[in-house]
Amino acid sequence: MTAQDVSDAAVVVRILESSGRPAGTGFLVGTRLVATCAHIVTAAIGGGPQSLRRPCAPIAVDFPSAAANHRMSARVCGWVPEYADGRGDIAVLHLDAAPPAAAVPPPMRADDGTTGPGFRMLGAADVGPGIASVSGHFWTSSLLMGWRAMDVEPGTLPISDRFSGAPVWDAAANMVVGMATVPDRRSTTRTAFVIPIQDVLLLVGSLPARAAETAEHGEPDLDAEPVVGVYGLRTFTVIGGKLRPVFDRSDNAAWRDGTCTAKCGKGTPHRPPADGCTCGVYCFRDLNHLRRQYSRQSASVVGVVALEGRVIEGDSGWRAQAARVVALWERTPGVVDVLPGVHRYRHVDDMVHTYPGLTVDSSPRPAAPRPTSPHSRTTGAQSTEDLRYVAALVGAILASPEAIVLLIIAGPIVGVTFFVVFVILCWLCGPR
Ligand SMILES: [Zn+2]
Repeated sequence: MTAQDVSDAAVVVRILESSGRPAGTGFLVGTRLVATCAHIVTAAIGGGPQSLRRPCAPIAVDFPSAAANHRMSARVCGWVPEYADGRGDIAVLHLDAAPPAAAVPPPMRADDGTTGPGFRMLGAADVGPGIASVSGHFWTSSLLMGWRAMDVEPGTLPISDRFSGAPVWDAAANMVVGMATVPDRRSTTRTAFVIPIQDVLLLVGSLPARAAETAEHGEPDLDAEPVVGVYGLRTFTVIGGKLRPVFDRSDNAAWRDGTCTAKCGKGTPHRPPADGCTCGVYCFRDLNHLRRQYSRQSASVVGVVALEGRVIEGDSGWRAQAARVVALWERTPGVVDVLPGVHRYRHVDDMVHTYPGLTVDSSPRPAAPRPTSPHSRTTGAQSTEDLRYVAALVGAILASPEAIVLLIIAGPIVGVTFFVVFVILCWLCGPR
């Protein structure tokens, strides 16, 4: 290790299994906040890295360079699960006590693609209790969209999954630009991916623990519900006590356990929700908007979902990479099986008002269709609003002076037929 490595290693933590063996690496990103990979947390304390539920058990960590034999305890306060395509995979831990004095967060800068070709990273050593340094060069991979890959210098030791969660420095700028995640979890490898530091800091910035830290409010409430602060409204069909998508045409497991991870039905190699595609988990902002679209289902059950991963905002709601139900209202309580951690409400309005950003009737009914309105990703059916828009258009054409003159020339039978069609269209377009 160089002198620079030795001083930088003070920020590096090892995430320990119960046996004391390191499962992976992490590093300080706030006074008492440590970033690591979600899959390293579950490797250390159990659970599935793709679970949308944040693990609650305490995790043992140490700072081998900053303070020898100084084991500490931490808990997960921010959680982005590992998604099916391998992305996501971020966890933020809150240390139960102040870290060693030598450990302060490193200088960081966004990985905007202008960083130099060389990297170095510091991670839990495979042999011995310490921290190991490796270096190499970045390259652009098409495997994980937007994430760069790293190759470890030939002639040096390969790395293992214990380097997942390691801080990655741009060697020239000497700043942390990302966090490593090692795709090969079973053997040693020379290739790892970089989770951009801005993705990590986005999660850190949204955490109550971070707000408590900057405002010096003392201990954050780690049992508080929100990890990601965006909520939406959905309705479901209920089959055998289980939540199912409104239009359930597939036999996937969506919503059965209260969670759903989006898959693109077009088979294209992108991560939902993608720009220019319709994929994603859809939800609404306004209860009455949801009722207009799904009147039958929303009269029986309405849920509040917390959005996870990438989220795209539309005019009337959002589509997200994943979501989980956090609150539920049923017209007849007890139809839906118990879902752990889901709050039940007796009054749907109370539920909607509890969650920031959600409304019951925010604005007048839109006069024109909204192209970005969420439709269920499994429907494919034309929405009611689209139908009304087409009806209004045809009605306007039929009501034009040219059309009336043509109908008079065409004769009474054709004229009467068109008059009836016109009346039906007026009815379709009228207020409900
Ligand atoms: Zn798509």
